[in-house]
Amino acid sequence: ALMITDDCINCDVCEPECPNDAIFMGPEIYEIDPHKCTECVGHYKEPQCKQVCPVNCIPFNPEWRETPAQLQAKYEHLQAAQ
Ligand code: SF4
Ligand code: SF4
Repeated sequence: ALMITDDCINCDVCEPECPNDAIFMGPEIYEIDPHKCTECVGHYKEPQCKQVCPVNCIPFNPEWRETPAQLQAKYEHLQAAQ
């Protein structure tokens, strides 16, 4: 999963780009729900939020390191839950 750092300026650009609805407004800045973030696996080749962020504040979450197979499994789980 990816994460949003406190460099976020709340520009609102990333939230609508997420195919998994993983991005939401937290108490102060936008946040990413790591249970929903597939790093865009299953939807796009590259993480869409990371591509559009104007201040480059969406790195990989060091506490949520996942393999491509794990991300694919998360994608399939999310699809099945819809
Ligand atoms: Fe959503 Fe993709 Fe960003 Fe994860 S990497 S939060 S799935 S847009
Ligand atoms: Fe914050 Fe970047 Fe998302 Fe804008 S695109 S709301 S700066 S994380």
